Amino acid sequence: MSDGSTDAHGKHQVGRTESLPAAPFDFEAANREYARENQARPGDLTRRRSQTAIITCVDSRCSPEHFFQLPENETICLRNGGGRTADMGTLRSLTLIQLTSELKEVMVIHHKNCGALFYTEEWVREQIAKSVTNDSQDHYPLVAPAWVNSVPWLGFNVRKGETERERLERSVQEDVVFLRNHPLLKPTVRVTGWYYNLSTGIVELVEC
Ligand SMILES: [Zn+2]
Repeated sequence: MSDGSTDAHGKHQVGRTESLPAAPFDFEAANREYARENQARPGDLTRRRSQTAIITCVDSRCSPEHFFQLPENETICLRNGGGRTADMGTLRSLTLIQLTSELKEVMVIHHKNCGALFYTEEWVREQIAKSVTNDSQDHYPLVAPAWVNSVPWLGFNVRKGETERERLERSVQEDVVFLRNHPLLKPTVRVTGWYYNLSTGIVELVEC
């Protein structure tokens, strides 16, 4: 399909030339049900929150709202690939949170079987370069490699002989230390590190 593409709901996608596959989950229906059941929420804007921000991975299996059973409006969750703290978008959001609310603690959580364990910056570069030269419909435009070089991919460092758990605990420690020393995080904000075991559902404190 080259023009007039539609999304899963039959609406035109401005600026896109390819169509997307239909989503198997009915987001609109679920949202309407949610809105019906949550009509009156007087505490929305005034209720005291936990004053904690969580930084974790975008992996859909790693959802703090679920594994901490968080009530709505309780905690700010910042998610990126791997749950890394040196991520510019995360630093930007953390800074804005401190300027607009009273942040007391940041929890850094990395998780078992994280996809970010398995890539390197070189691998990302190679995949994009390969796709640009690919003739199939599913390719990136020619300018994509220039963008690849301007994005920090923040892959996990690999040390020979290390187990996955050891590597993740080390990455949590690195990310906690990075934040504790970062000039854009106030020294009064507590930073803690955690490991989430997808297999057991348990979140464990990592000594940092
Ligand atoms: Zn992950």
